[in-house]
Amino acid sequence: MPPGQNKPIIGISSCLLGEPVRYDGNHKHAPPIIEHLTHHFSFHSFCPEVAIGLGVPRPPIHLILKQQQIYCVDVSDPSIDVTEQLIQCSQQQDWQQTLCGYIVKARSPSCGWKSTPVTQTKETTPSLFDSGVYTAQLIKRFPDLPIIEEEQLIDVNCREVFIRRVLSYERKKRNAG
Ligand code: SF4
Repeated sequence: MPPGQNKPIIGISSCLLGEPVRYDGNHKHAPPIIEHLTHHFSFHSFCPEVAIGLGVPRPPIHLILKQQQIYCVDVSDPSIDVTEQLIQCSQQQDWQQTLCGYIVKARSPSCGWKSTPVTQTKETTPSLFDSGVYTAQLIKRFPDLPIIEEEQLIDVNCREVFIRRVLSYERKKRNAG
């Protein structure tokens, strides 16, 4: 069987695969972890910030809390609000239906999963931590999809649990289809 065939597909934040798509033109490649997981899975790489046309490099964005709602805005100019663009971007990705799991970049305002700092409008200390806008939508559409941040994959137990959850999700999908 050719490599990659029949492996469950998992989504991954592009910067974790070494693609230089971060706001500063860098990446966040995590080679040993990714290499280990390629034995089990095929990857679908995606960068929501590039997909909505923010470009590389780009001014950094962050999450703020305003009137009990979370918004994703430009760090130096809060009038530039990309919340709705990121929501729609996530909703429009039909390929997400093929996924059996997702690895996301910790603390990103787009990709983070429960770890992204959210500040009050004019403060710098985080008021709370939540998911990035793209990932929050992904969770709404696929609440049972196994999701993990790259930093959790460093822990061997977390990694093995994630692999088992993905394989189980894939089996359920196959049996349902
Ligand atoms: S938006 Fe996501 S994939 Fe793109 S650089 Fe930020 S963390 Fe990485």
